[in-house]
Amino acid sequence: MSELAHVLLGLLSVLLGLVLVGFAIFFLWVLPITLGVRCARRKNYSPTWMWFGIHPVGGWIAFLVLSCLTPRIACPNCGGYVTVNFRICPYCQGAILIYFQ
Ligand SMILES: [Zn+2]
Repeated sequence: MSELAHVLLGLLSVLLGLVLVGFAIFFLWVLPITLGVRCARRKNYSPTWMWFGIHPVGGWIAFLVLSCLTPRIACPNCGGYVTVNFRICPYCQGAILIYFQ
């Protein structure tokens, strides 16, 4: 094989490695953390739970747990967070009106 073919093969393998590393970063960190933060905000939980996403598997686990949780709303009287199935606030005993978005 010529010298040029060796150089081209080396370049190709480096490019393939970069693409694989990019896919790994996307599927192990970017995707689960993005989905988890979006899910946490939608359900009124703290997005800081997604710090578990520092560990590649932890991000997917935190996202799965967040996606299974019942959404929360803030009590209009005291601001405490309760799940949507509460009708009376457990903190201030005030009535909670639910409006579905
Ligand atoms: Zn309350």
